[in-house]
Amino acid sequence: MAILIIGGAGYIGSHAVRYFSDKGRDVVVVDSLSTGHREAVDVPFYQLDIRDEKALEEVFLSHDIDGVIHFAANSLVGVSMVEPYEYYHNNVYGMMCLLNVMRRQGVKNLVFSSTAATYGEPIRELILEDDPTEPTNPYGETKLAMEKMMKWFARAYNMKYISLRYFNAAGAQPDGSLGEMHNPETHLIPLVLQVPAGQRDKISIFGDDYPTADGTCIRDYIHVCDLASAHLLALEYLEKGGESDVFNLGNGKGYSVKEVIETARKVTGHPIPAVVEARRPGDPAILVASSDKAKRELGWKPEHENLEEIISDAWRFYNK
Ligand code: UDP
Repeated sequence: MAILIIGGAGYIGSHAVRYFSDKGRDVVVVDSLSTGHREAVDVPFYQLDIRDEKALEEVFLSHDIDGVIHFAANSLVGVSMVEPYEYYHNNVYGMMCLLNVMRRQGVKNLVFSSTAATYGEPIRELILEDDPTEPTNPYGETKLAMEKMMKWFARAYNMKYISLRYFNAAGAQPDGSLGEMHNPETHLIPLVLQVPAGQRDKISIFGDDYPTADGTCIRDYIHVCDLASAHLLALEYLEKGGESDVFNLGNGKGYSVKEVIETARKVTGHPIPAVVEARRPGDPAILVASSDKAKRELGWKPEHENLEEIISDAWRFYNK
């Protein structure tokens, strides 16, 4: 029996592949390599786009798949604002193809990588899973549409899913063997680290007129290894008979863009010059999770909660 990890060559996916393998699970990876890295995967691997249903179904026919972890989606807020067609086609239609193949092959359990962007502007300090979902960008809209599609497929075809709404994934494997490598890079922490790494002169701060203490956006940064462990717990929860559900994954503590830059200065010992620029369209001011439900129901315990540790791990990967 194997677990199919779709998007397993990507940043979070490759950490999940490593974690599942370390815990003794047989893993098969599918990835289109549109953003992933082949060298990040050392288990059976198929390069394909899940919108190619026939090719995807072949993988199910070649392996005894009994659960799926789905990471493969476009995930950049800014790009989604100008390329909504691409986001709907890849994310929403991709999910439709995956669910269709799972249904035909009788595979019941799906763990899905969702996002805090499904909420939009929060109505309280720590976002709860039942809070309103009013995305402020097409990326969040597509992930919400994917969640809803899973709900209706699950009901009609006797499937089950767990949707994990991550806040801001960050950090790297503590030994520096896996980490974040987007090209082009758009995420705050790796961009900040490009300055001490000598790859850029300064970091841009996208807006300092938000309604926060220092005027910059606040996010909840969660270590990628803590995300990986949550996926296995979610799958085990379904395997033990748990019902379909949605969980937030974050540390419950927000840091502003300026605080992230300041922490990176401390970790790297580099002055990291910063300049304030215009707001990036689609960004909510504050996104911080309550993850009490995941801790309570899944038994999840984040182990790398400290921002300095998260940035230090990312920096170690960068230096490798
Ligand atoms: N950000 C920034 N400068 C950058 C990249 C990001 O000020 O060069 C801000 C961005 O506007 C957001 C926060 O950092 O408020 C986190 O952005 P990121 O793209 O890392 O993750 P997101 O929250 O979009 O998932």
